[in-house]
Amino acid sequence: MAQDRIITAKEKTEDKTLDLTLRPRSLKEFVGQEKIKDNLSVFMRAAKQRKEPIEHALLYGPPGIGKTTLAHIIANEMGVNIRVTSGPAIERAGDLGSILTNLEDGDILFIDEIHRLPRTVEEVLYPSMEEFLLDIVVGKGPAARTLRLELPRFSIIGATTRASLLSAPLRDRFGITYRLDFYADDDVGKIISRSAKILGIEITNDAVKEIAKRARRTPRVANRLLKRVRDFAQVQSLNKISLDVASVSLQRLEIDNLGLDLIDRRILETVIEKFNGGPVGINTIAAATSEERDTIEEIYEPFLLQVGFLARTPRGRVVTESAYRHLGVEPPTDLQSKLI
Ligand code: ADP
Repeated sequence: MAQDRIITAKEKTEDKTLDLTLRPRSLKEFVGQEKIKDNLSVFMRAAKQRKEPIEHALLYGPPGIGKTTLAHIIANEMGVNIRVTSGPAIERAGDLGSILTNLEDGDILFIDEIHRLPRTVEEVLYPSMEEFLLDIVVGKGPAARTLRLELPRFSIIGATTRASLLSAPLRDRFGITYRLDFYADDDVGKIISRSAKILGIEITNDAVKEIAKRARRTPRVANRLLKRVRDFAQVQSLNKISLDVASVSLQRLEIDNLGLDLIDRRILETVIEKFNGGPVGINTIAAATSEERDTIEEIYEPFLLQVGFLARTPRGRVVTESAYRHLGVEPPTDLQSKLI
């Protein structure tokens, strides 16, 4: 299963404790994403001056990129409580009702995977986001009545890896929308150095760079790789992570010098071998590689698109020339025409 692989940006149980230790608590500690940080600090300052909660905010981007971290930082810097839930956890309108009525003035409600919120729940959410009102139905049949409750003034921070799956009316109700992008290698390096310091590990600059290069431009993957490399160093009784240790450990984990793992390579090789490099649809790729479509779309494809190994065309996905070169395979002569 893809979820068990080291490279997966999706959260694993071991990440939970690691995340809590390494999670930045303030905007100052949050590495990269400069524009978003600048804008956020203005919004937060303005809201504080007006003594109002911040506007509802939607954060989207690939998994492991800092959405949850930012939500906690906002709550921390605004000095308010944060309640954490997720789209699939709120099954019925009643579940949402009990969460909302338990909030206090100024609280932040963080809804992860907000694209998986059931439609019936979404409809109850609209008036509460706009007017802080909650309509509940009391009683059954002809005796049923609608009761309107006033809610505290709260802010919703929604996070999603799939903004395109959000309904338009829900998207429109967010005053602030930010897309968190993959990190530059330098920023990933800063995150690794910061994490190493917190974990009390000595690491050389070239080892930091080596890990950063293979971390899929994703902070969660960077932290996980650092931890794995630390394990390798520890069992060899080394008190410092050198370039050598980092390279050997990453090779043993079968992560190549661009951060591709076995599944990335299998996806590319399958498209090359079985479909002559594409174009091929995502469902066909999923079936041919025995991976779930969602996993490919959320984890593998965004990174392969980002490094330019896969291209999206109206007729499906196509493997690019640089991917052929990376895998050491001769590209077909008609590659250019496939990309149109
Ligand atoms: P997401 O919610 O997007 O899946 P998280 O916010 O849970 O991702 O981030 C995963 C981990 O990566 C965090 O616990 C934190 O340790 C680290 N991290 C994410 N973004 C940054 C950042 N900008 N600077 C430093 N560490 C980060």
